[in-house]
Amino acid sequence: MNNKKIGWDNNSLMEMLERSETLFENTGRYYGLDLLSLKEENPFRYERAYASLRGALVSARETALHIAASPIVKEIGELCFALYSPEGDSLVVSTGILVHVHTMSEAIKFMIEQNYEEDPGIHPGDIFLNNDPETGNVHTTDVQTIIPIFWDNELIGWAGGVTHQIDAGGITPGHDLVAAIQRFDDGMYYTCRKIGSNDKIWKDHMINARRSVRTPLYWELDEKCRLAGDLMIRDAVLEFIKEEGIKYYKRFIREAIEEGRQILLKRVKERLLPGRYRAAAFFDLPLKEEAWQPRAKVNKLTNEPLEIIVDENGELSLDFDGCSGPGANPMNCGKGAMEGGQWVLLTQILIYGDKVNDGAYFGVKKNYPLGTWCNPGDPYLSYQSPWGNLIPAYTGMMKCLSYGLFARGYREEVVPGYGFTGDAIQGGGVYSSGPLKGERWALSTFEISGQGLGASAVRDGLDWGYAMWNPESDLGDVETWELFQGGVPYLSRKIKPNTAGHGKYRGGANYAGVAMIANSEDVDFFGARDGLVFHGAGGMHGGYPHATGYRLIAKNTNMKEIIAQQKEYPIGDSDPSNGDFERLLKAEIIRKPWSSIYPVMLENYDLVYFPLSGGPGYGDPLERDIESVKKDLDEGIYTDDFVYNIYGVKASYNEENEEWILNIEDTKRRREEIIMERKNTSMTYEEFWNYEKSKLTEQKLSEQVKRMYTESLSLSENWKKEFLTFWKLPDDFNLNIEVE
Ligand code: MN
Repeated sequence: MNNKKIGWDNNSLMEMLERSETLFENTGRYYGLDLLSLKEENPFRYERAYASLRGALVSARETALHIAASPIVKEIGELCFALYSPEGDSLVVSTGILVHVHTMSEAIKFMIEQNYEEDPGIHPGDIFLNNDPETGNVHTTDVQTIIPIFWDNELIGWAGGVTHQIDAGGITPGHDLVAAIQRFDDGMYYTCRKIGSNDKIWKDHMINARRSVRTPLYWELDEKCRLAGDLMIRDAVLEFIKEEGIKYYKRFIREAIEEGRQILLKRVKERLLPGRYRAAAFFDLPLKEEAWQPRAKVNKLTNEPLEIIVDENGELSLDFDGCSGPGANPMNCGKGAMEGGQWVLLTQILIYGDKVNDGAYFGVKKNYPLGTWCNPGDPYLSYQSPWGNLIPAYTGMMKCLSYGLFARGYREEVVPGYGFTGDAIQGGGVYSSGPLKGERWALSTFEISGQGLGASAVRDGLDWGYAMWNPESDLGDVETWELFQGGVPYLSRKIKPNTAGHGKYRGGANYAGVAMIANSEDVDFFGARDGLVFHGAGGMHGGYPHATGYRLIAKNTNMKEIIAQQKEYPIGDSDPSNGDFERLLKAEIIRKPWSSIYPVMLENYDLVYFPLSGGPGYGDPLERDIESVKKDLDEGIYTDDFVYNIYGVKASYNEENEEWILNIEDTKRRREEIIMERKNTSMTYEEFWNYEKSKLTEQKLSEQVKRMYTESLSLSENWKKEFLTFWKLPDDFNLNIEVE
């Protein structure tokens, strides 16, 4: 046995991690560096070094993409790689889905803290697999492959890659499950497991993994894709050391991370005004009717308040104090999820275009209060769809930072929020005829990667083109999705009117799809999105939130006859009060005002309609330029009744020219009328305060709001004190509702 420690200078990795943490704690600088000496001595060499490692990671990703099988990975590049220090801090990242950079960092630290160095051992050629949200991951669906990199018997770094799977073997088919309520529903858990040695994945692991998921082919090829990328990164690092020398490399990795931290601080100082920023955000989960399991039958509204302090030195601190509790649902978030969501947004708002690495992690302080949905402290809960809470919660960060950006004059950088990346079709089935008869297909469209972005303070939001977790948003091609999900051809993809949040600058708009079940049996379908209330922190400076989602399914349809007779079928739901589905089909039509649903079984010729999310607006809609409103009408972004009621614009449709004609006089009159309506019907602050308070004291709140407040009151003394003081309520105030 070789008992030599694998860290530097005969230290163990645990000793190295402790030293790094102590140095940061004592100095506030990464590895205690007070000077970026390599950068100062020879900035060209330093920048070239960074660029060559960065290039190696980007090309590893591009190459690995061709090995992957999952349509999500192949079609929209749901994959990323990162290079880590021996202590697990990322110094360079690839392009791609950057959520996962700090998550793998937590996994490496877990292995160090658990003394993997001694048992199971960390050797050159070893391969580790992780998908446990308790040990640095977002959900079981994201699978990480991590390998150590050695030089001269010392561990000098780690390479890590992650892909998002179609299926992880959970309670139902799918990748962001709604029906999971405990760890045992989430699918296979690999908690930082060694799965290979000598650069080869062990056969027993692969046999086990293939039998644990519904889509073994995708799983296996994606494992090979991640390993191939990791090995390419390792080769590139060894090549780098041969060229630059090990001494340079060891110093360089420290400086690159400290520089990353300094870049964040500089950006914050440059872009934001110091101060305290606050936002409120919510997500509704109507499981009383939807859930199967008795304990999960609870209607919840999650409280997601956020306070951000920007100090004059450029440090950011995020505090989620006041959040409501976790629950028997899959939307609970571990630290990996919280860090991942935050990090990917910071790369988009503040640290884009420069050195992007864990330096930014070291520049941000955070509080995820124990016992809340963002830090439940209970590994036995389900963490399968943390995005349900993450996506809305981080609109609060976007909004806080937007106030800061606006205050500094960066009006074009303002983004008060984004559409909910949910509600693409999810589930799976089995082919009932043809060459693939008996094979499973999985619903894996990542159209959710194309949502509406919020408006800025100078322009409309991006239409159907944004996902908060993927800086390279791409909704993919229908043909590719259809190829993989043979049981669900698309009948249409069409702009869905009235999804965009209203404002002087409107939010990004979105579309909706109609899918039909075909050539299949045993089809499960489910989905998730905001429904009864809009998710997130809403619009800004008078802008409205986007439209909420809803659910439309047509069962037992006469589509077979319609197709045979070549008759008209529904391709949209432009006006739900006078629906094309009801008009054109003989069917059992199910409409629900919420979007998060447990799996339903569907038959061939059943139809599913799925509207995607718009983004929130900015500024008063009455200030919207009327030519822009005409354009919205012509493009089908809004319907004329919405435009009349909200923008005060009167227009009539010219059938001949197929365009909307504005009526300027009526518009002037209507806008003045709306201003008068506002004056006559709005309340003073005192009236509003009294009205809202009466809801608390006279028990007028809905069950889910009562539950939300009660949880927040019991979980945070600070939040309770502020709540009771603000509403002038007695210390023993309660809303008479039982919470878990
Ligand atoms: Mn994922």
